[in-house]
Amino acid sequence: MSEQSAKAQIGVTGLAVMGRNLARNLARHGFPVALHNRSAEKTRSLVADHGDEGTFIPSESLEDFVASLAKPRAIIIMVKAGDPTDAVINDLIPLLDENDIIIDCGNAHFDDTRRREHALKEHGLHFVGSGVSGGEEGALLGPSIMPGGSKESYEKLGPMFEAIAAQVDGTPCCIHIGPDGAGHFVKMVHNGIEYADMQLIAEAYDLLREGLGITPAEIADIFREWNEGDLESFLIELTADVLAHVDAETGKPFVDIVLDQAEQKGTGRWTVQSALDLGIPITGIAEATFARSLSGHADQREAARAAFPSISTGEAWAANDRDAFVEDVRRALYASKVVAYAQGFDQIQAGSEQYGWDVDPGAIAMIWRGGCIIRARFLNRIHEAYEKNPQLTSLMVDPYFAEVVTSGADSWRRVVADAARTGVPTPAFSSSLAYFDALRRNRLPAALIQGLRDNFGAHTYLRVDKPGSFHTYWATDDKSEAPA
Ligand code: NAP
Repeated sequence: MSEQSAKAQIGVTGLAVMGRNLARNLARHGFPVALHNRSAEKTRSLVADHGDEGTFIPSESLEDFVASLAKPRAIIIMVKAGDPTDAVINDLIPLLDENDIIIDCGNAHFDDTRRREHALKEHGLHFVGSGVSGGEEGALLGPSIMPGGSKESYEKLGPMFEAIAAQVDGTPCCIHIGPDGAGHFVKMVHNGIEYADMQLIAEAYDLLREGLGITPAEIADIFREWNEGDLESFLIELTADVLAHVDAETGKPFVDIVLDQAEQKGTGRWTVQSALDLGIPITGIAEATFARSLSGHADQREAARAAFPSISTGEAWAANDRDAFVEDVRRALYASKVVAYAQGFDQIQAGSEQYGWDVDPGAIAMIWRGGCIIRARFLNRIHEAYEKNPQLTSLMVDPYFAEVVTSGADSWRRVVADAARTGVPTPAFSSSLAYFDALRRNRLPAALIQGLRDNFGAHTYLRVDKPGSFHTYWATDDKSEAPA
């Protein structure tokens, strides 16, 4: 055996749950994997527990780890995001040779990835920021992989990543997303969409429970039925599981014994911050992120409950026509989901333009069909929409999605109006409907805002009937206007 062939094809440093499973997935697919972890115990236990799954080359020192890799080396870092990633990169740099590739598969912010790629270029090294979605099970059995970085790096990594990714209809859920931070950016928006998807599902559950006065187990059946149609997705399937689950200790529905405070740890917030920078309204994702923040403000919620005790959501309001109400909620959910995805894809395209990434939105829909948390039947439709028209200005105007929102609009309005009337909060349903209405409105009140801005700050305005900027002299008697 030559020295190169006895070496590992790829290495993984950081062998907590994600790194361990990714390394096993690579080994199971026939790629010899070099292993390293800061504390050697994790390396040893991986080999002890799963050494028979493929070829592992374990090392306790970073030097030995690097030396065990075939050149050009490909090293996956799977450590805690943030400073630990920088620490590991800095330790690796002096040990590597030109054209070696460092791949960060952690949840990094795309700006950090951009910074790291530029810094490593100075050392003649490739840096690939890669999104990996699907949690620990995905990492082992087939995640959705979103690598950024140079084309050259993808030539080496692509065959390995495509082999270990989830496969849908024979197509791997992995493509080269684009250069530098493109992979982590797209993973960030994926997570933002995941926030919106979950919030919409949660609102649908709340509406069904309040509107019909039925049990979580009965609602689980409704979600199961929905999972047979257009809404079919991993999250809808999980929702049925969670709602059907009964707490063994109390005998109560599981959902009733869980504290109703959700966390928003990072990627949802990053998505909203980036959207504000890019000027892209992602109202569904933003409302979902804020809804989680609101849920966590226990003191304010308690104070508000005490201050407004008489305003209650009242009794089940839709019980007289159960089937019609369930169908209204389903249609409202689907239409709101179209809005959330349309907004997320707008953000991806805006990021791609801003940073010159040339991201293909249709291909992204394809690699989200399997492995990742938002995998869904619906993503085929998104892929088809961009196939038909790569210049689509908004997913909402694609004929299929236009029909979903048009045919669902009456249901959507009834649900949002009923919720408002009875005091059930539906921030994501409501803001999605408002977005749809604003987008298709003939005239928006933005005209008045421009008038106000010109009045107090001489910010000028454009006219509908002639070119150029104008200012009105508001303090004069005749309020005369002049070109600005
Ligand atoms: P984690 O809990 O985020 O990180 C633990 C790992 O980081 C351990 O291997 C630890 O080594 C190492 N580490 C921490 N500080 C270090 C330092 N200063 N120098 C060197 N190594 C250091 O692990 P994880 O849950 O497997 O996640 C890994 C990455 O994947 C993270 O970026 C995470 O955000 C991302 N991710 C996670 C999931 C998920 O479902 N968990 C999904 C997608 C992406 P020791 O063992 O020596 O402490």
